[in-house]
This record gives sequence, C-alpha cells and structure tokens, in this order.
Amino acid sequence: ATPTAIMAGIGNAAAYGIIIRSGDALERFAKVKHMAFDKTGTLTYGKLKVIALKSFNDSLSEEKVLYYAATAEQRSEHPIGKSICAHYRALREQDLIKKSEKKVMLEPQDFILLAGQGVRAQIDGQEILIGKPDLFQQEQIFISKEIEDISEDYLKKGATVVYIGINRHMAGLIALSDTVREDAERMISKLKSLHIEPLLLTGDNSDAAQDISEKVAISKVKANLLPEDKMKELKRYTDENKPVCMVGDGINDALALKSAYAGVAMGGIGSSIAVEAADAVLVGDDIQRIPYLIRLSQKTMRKIK
Ligand code: ADP
Ligand code: MG
Repeated sequence: ATPTAIMAGIGNAAAYGIIIRSGDALERFAKVKHMAFDKTGTLTYGKLKVIALKSFNDSLSEEKVLYYAATAEQRSEHPIGKSICAHYRALREQDLIKKSEKKVMLEPQDFILLAGQGVRAQIDGQEILIGKPDLFQQEQIFISKEIEDISEDYLKKGATVVYIGINRHMAGLIALSDTVREDAERMISKLKSLHIEPLLLTGDNSDAAQDISEKVAISKVKANLLPEDKMKELKRYTDENKPVCMVGDGINDALALKSAYAGVAMGGIGSSIAVEAADAVLVGDDIQRIPYLIRLSQKTMRKIK
C-alpha cells in the first residue's frame, strides 16, 4: 500500500495548489524540523513601493537617475528590479516625467546579474551599477558621509536601500519598502505548533530583516547573506543532522533550495530556476499551504508504517 498512499498524498497536495515533485520529496517533507524563509517575495509580497528617489549628481534629475536604474533592471527577475521598472512606468503613464525626459527605454548592453547584490549594465555608453550598499563598498565607489546618513535614515525605517552608480561614481539612491504577507504570521505560528522551528535568511540589511522578523515572530534571523552564505547555512543544518526546508522565490535562491534537505519554491512570482531546484512548488503563492504540506506529508508517512 506504500506507493498508493504516497500517490494519494501527492494528489491531495496538488488539489490544494502544491505540486510535490516525487514520493521521495514527500518523505523528506515529513521529516523536516526547521524551516528557513527567504524574505523578499516569500514572507513579503515582493511588490515594493519606492519611498524615496534621490540624485547626488547636480547634472542629473531624479527622473534621469530612475530612468537609468529602470533601464538597467529591465531584464531583472528580482522583485527589486521589477518594482523599480514598475515605478518608472507608472510615473511615465501619469505624465509625471517631463517631456524631455520621456525617452523610450533603451535596451541595456552587457547586462550582468550580480546574484544577491544587484546588476550592472551599459546604457548610452555609460556603466550603470545598481545594488546594495555593500556592493558599492566592495567596488570601492566613494560614498560621502552625507549619503551614508541619508541611507541610514531609510534603513532605520526598515526600508531596502539600493545605490545607483554611473561610471563608478555615486549618482543616486532608491529606498523601497515591502509589505509583509497578510497571513505570514499565522503560517509561522502554525509551523511552531507542529514543532517546526522557523528561521529567516535574507540578503537584505539587518534592519529590514529585524523589522519583518518581529512582524511574523521569527526569532532566528540572519541578514546580509549572499546566495552562497545561505547555501552554507543550510548545509550546516544538514551536517548537524537537522533536516531543514528552504522556502524561497527568486533566482537568487536556487542554490539555497538545492542545498537544503528539502526545498519549496513560490510558483507565482518565483523564477523558473527556483522552481526547477525545488521539491515542491506553491502554485498560487499561498504560504498558508506550507504547514498543510508538512502535516499532509507526516500523515501520509504514518499511514505507511
Ligand atoms: P532577499 O534575501 O531579501 O530575497 P536577495 O538575496 O535576493 O534578498 O538580495 C539581497 C540584496 O541585494 C537586496 O536587498 C538588494 O539590496 C540587492 N539586490 C539584489 N538584486 C538586486 C537587483 N536586481 N537590483 C538592485 N539590488 C538588488
Ligand atoms: Mg529573494
């Protein structure tokens, strides 16, 4: 009766919007004791609002800085990139961008994705760099004290801050804020009642991480992680015989999803790469299905014994 029960389990999950890849995957979900969550797009909606846009270059308007950023992010699958493009399009549609600035978006040249950090592209013969403040430090791009203070103000509010550089000079800043999924806290509390320990692994800054961890009641938090740091963290759990499941969305999470004991990808806004790396996919991005998936797997495995 073993394969029959597993088939039934997988079938039931599918009816609830969870695609489980295999019987082996279902067996692993039943053993999970820790659940690691990515932040942006997983615990949050991943539709970020631009709360500030600044130019630090006297000859560039704020709109121009946004134009460069949006153009560079055109091919980005990351929620931050998509949100910057959406903001630019919205301003253009509302006619808030001056006629003179209203050029058609160029195709970025030499687009390079710096996974978990930002993007680099050539536009109009200029090198555009956009990403997290750490990246600019790493690239040794000069950031004045004044800019650091402005950035700090937005970080304290729990915002995500990205810098925009043009030809290796600091040109502007965009601060974005995300919204926690309405049902995230309830989902975390259900996991706790199933004796699963939640943890937050994010590439974003520690203030943003702290802000959301308080909102959803996750006490274990690691911030400023690169994709390979997330991977190492998950491997450590496996090495210590702690079966951990990673839940993630974006292109930056594929490594983490693969290196965890089990992986769940968000299907809706998630990238196809993340989906391929996962053991299960949440078709409608309904995170409330996660505790259901664990319970269903546990029940199915009990039937077999
Ligand atoms: P998270 O763990 O919150 O999903 P990521 O690891 O995907 O975050 O990204 C970490 C950080 O790197 C972001 O908070 C942002 O500062 C920066 N970043 C990543 N991708 C991009 C992008 N396409 N454009 C600008 N910044 C980015
Ligand atoms: Mg992510």
